[in-house]
Amino acid sequence: MWSRKAQLPLKNKDSALRVQPGTATPAPPPLRPKRRRRLPREVYIDGVLAGDRKVLAQAITLVESTREDDSALAREILEVCLPRTGKSVRLGITGVPGAGKSSLIEALGLHLIRDHAAKVAVLAVDPSSQISGGSILGDKTRMELLAAHDSAFIRPSPSSGSLGGVARRTRETMLLCEAAGYRSIIVETVGVGQSETAVRSMVDFFLLLTLTGAGDELQLMKRGVMEMADVVAINKADGDNRQRAEMARAELEHGLHLFPPSPTGWVPQAVTCSARTGFGIPELWGFVLDHTKLLQANGWLQRIRREQVKTWMYDIIEQELQTRFRQHPAVREHLAKLESDVVEGKTSSFRAAQRLLELYKHS
Ligand code: GDP
Repeated sequence: MWSRKAQLPLKNKDSALRVQPGTATPAPPPLRPKRRRRLPREVYIDGVLAGDRKVLAQAITLVESTREDDSALAREILEVCLPRTGKSVRLGITGVPGAGKSSLIEALGLHLIRDHAAKVAVLAVDPSSQISGGSILGDKTRMELLAAHDSAFIRPSPSSGSLGGVARRTRETMLLCEAAGYRSIIVETVGVGQSETAVRSMVDFFLLLTLTGAGDELQLMKRGVMEMADVVAINKADGDNRQRAEMARAELEHGLHLFPPSPTGWVPQAVTCSARTGFGIPELWGFVLDHTKLLQANGWLQRIRREQVKTWMYDIIEQELQTRFRQHPAVREHLAKLESDVVEGKTSSFRAAQRLLELYKHS
């Protein structure tokens, strides 16, 4: 990692920099982590606001950084960008692996670019990276056609950190994309764990993508994900599967009616589509627009957005407190021992937590 330049013989004889005979080779510089070049604040801000994709990507890297100085700069950039946000449609998409999320996002994204002259940003919240160390969303070659398009910006989620941290950074990434002029933001998540709830809290419209068969519908209902959905779309409604998909749609629609009506006045829909043939894709976007119009007219969009900024504030506080707690010297000194005491049953979780909180508070 360290530069070995100082130890190499100088090749240019005319150089004013010459190593004198007898001079000892300088010691290698101390090992330091490789430093990414940081741009001046104004360059980030001007680049993001001008819609420069390269600078946008660099600003997002800053948002994702765990270094305190990077975070401070990221906060300043976000603060300046905030007045330019809020005008985009924020769409969340979830579904089990294999449901066709990336295929659908690609089809939908290309439709938006071609038929609506939109700029589309796709962000991913990937809890699998945190659970398994691998990544469900990131490993595949995904959305190649969309990724190659000038009007699209695709960003996978950071591969480490708690779900709360990943979600916070996704929210901040979304705001940077909005400031860069992306009017359609699609946030994708894998249908496992808590990630749907996190994504639901940062978008206006939530699409659940599902498939026919395998008792999938019932499982979704049990897990409460369906309750969060504004539209449930049954994908792969093509070829032999079209009829089955229609039957599943009717069943799902019935299921959706069992939930209490949404206070927003929106009636959740069950639809069929095919990311492969494009069937149902314009209609799907039609639902998103209808939903936006309705919520704009009855004031709910504003309420949802207010809720989103409130959640964001609490997320920031929780993350910050957690970081400070874990970095606190007294906590660091006692954490491992208390944790093993809890595991071995020598003390209760409650007592250990109280002790650590006391240490944090009083020293
Ligand atoms: P993801 O894991 O939810 O992102 O799913 P993918 O988009 O990677 O799709 C999983 C598999 O389903 C791939 O082999 C796709 O080609 C296929 N697939 C996706 N959408 C459709 C569709 O509408 N019809 C058919 N027949 N296959 C599809």
